[in-house]
Amino acid sequence: MGKIITYKTEERIINLDGKSIKYTLLFKNVKNLTCRFKNYENKLYVIAPANYSYTKIEKFLQEHKRAILNWVEKSNQLKFNLTRDFIDGEKYLLLGQEYLLRINKVYKKQEEGISFDANYLVLKTTKDEKEYKRKILEKYYKNIAQRIISEEFQKLKNKYSGKIPNSSEYSLYIRKMKTKWGLNNSKTRTITIGFHLIFACIEDIDYVIIHELCHCAVRDHSKLFYSYQGMLCPDYQERKRDLNKNIHPFICQIEMLDSLI
Ligand SMILES: [Zn+2]
Repeated sequence: MGKIITYKTEERIINLDGKSIKYTLLFKNVKNLTCRFKNYENKLYVIAPANYSYTKIEKFLQEHKRAILNWVEKSNQLKFNLTRDFIDGEKYLLLGQEYLLRINKVYKKQEEGISFDANYLVLKTTKDEKEYKRKILEKYYKNIAQRIISEEFQKLKNKYSGKIPNSSEYSLYIRKMKTKWGLNNSKTRTITIGFHLIFACIEDIDYVIIHELCHCAVRDHSKLFYSYQGMLCPDYQERKRDLNKNIHPFICQIEMLDSLI
């Protein structure tokens, strides 16, 4: 198939079970009708083949109303604000703590950076441009992620090397990851952890590292795997819940910090 072309874009509304749901309809040179939820934009996209009628498209949406209404309900529950303009009052997470952003103007480049004042994350910048401020924040997050995750990895690897076969041979790699918290590659003997785990508390970070270390001994999620994990991280279910319930929604919304996620 050749290049995907968008012929027409329309903002439309459909009534599903008495609720008015907004969506963006894109007519493209595709074969099938699909819908996509974009959490960080809080938008529903419907992609339709160019020759489809509105009747056909609306019938499809009615048929999928359960999934659509579920998504709408979930996205309304997200507790963080969607807009990220890097201005005073926006909420950010670091190591499981919630902070409010405060912008402080400084006059020298050497004074730029991040500091903390009670529950404020203070972004010191010489310029008030969105992109410029974003870069300062991303750089800070990346540095601290690199440092903390490496320290935790080293600590846990040393602690459990006698308990988890093969784990001492593994090295750590931290990078931007879209869909996973961590990854274990037995061929390259590496464990990869996503930068974005730095939004979560230390206990959650440790859980992900332990989970990946356990994969050094057991590849799949078998009973044996869970017996290792349960022994080394007894509260793993709580950690997993916290990541899915509190950290993941936040990450969906700050996709704007693009070098991290
Ligand atoms: Zn796993």
